[in-house]
Amino acid sequence: MNLILLGPPGVGKGSHAKMFTREMNIPQVSTGDMLREHMRQGTELGLAARRYIDAGELVPDDVVIGMVQLRLQEPDAQDGYVLDGFPRTVPQAEALEAFTQVDKVVNLLAGEDIIMEHLAGRRVCGACGSTFHTRTLGSSMVCPECGGQLVHRKDDQPETIKNRLEVYARQTAPLIGYYKAKGNLLDVRVEGLLESDHQVIRRALGLA
Ligand code: ADP
Ligand code: ZN
Repeated sequence: MNLILLGPPGVGKGSHAKMFTREMNIPQVSTGDMLREHMRQGTELGLAARRYIDAGELVPDDVVIGMVQLRLQEPDAQDGYVLDGFPRTVPQAEALEAFTQVDKVVNLLAGEDIIMEHLAGRRVCGACGSTFHTRTLGSSMVCPECGGQLVHRKDDQPETIKNRLEVYARQTAPLIGYYKAKGNLLDVRVEGLLESDHQVIRRALGLA
């Protein structure tokens, strides 16, 4: 299945994408993770992307489109994928259509309280890129996966979060209408409880 997870920052796209990856053996294609990996490696792309990401702005379309196009050509993406964080603009969605066929778009909806709690408590590993939450970590700043140092993402600070939500409303929310018109959009309201939310998403997709 070729799946897109759509929704505001902090709604849980990454967490649900990881669960689909395990259940269906399809790769998670997260442009946010890919861009952060470029920044960690200090590539030219990473250096160019940093100022947009740190400000909570979108990285230019041509940069992310090229990255996703290459990623979807990899062997592991030939039997399905779950896109998380892409597309984020109508031009990105149009470009995507030119190189793949999307089956379903899950539009995750959540109250602002859930979103703010997710973003404020989110910690990311500087070494391996895994994401965790203070709910399960407590005050530890050590990565449970690799022992690396966890950090509070610069773009998860309150001033930047506000901008990212505005950017979402202005540039990404129009995709809801775009996919609704195509007839493959599923609206799913989540409550911030990973396991039960995931079952609701699976049912909406006809998987459970
Ligand atoms: P979240 O979904 O929690 O907002 P991501 O990790 O998906 O965070 O994205 C972090 C940042 O990476 C975004 O704020 C943006 O700067 C950049 N980014 C990720 N995906 C895209 C995309 N498809 N187009 C443009 N910029 C992107
Ligand atoms: Zn780690």
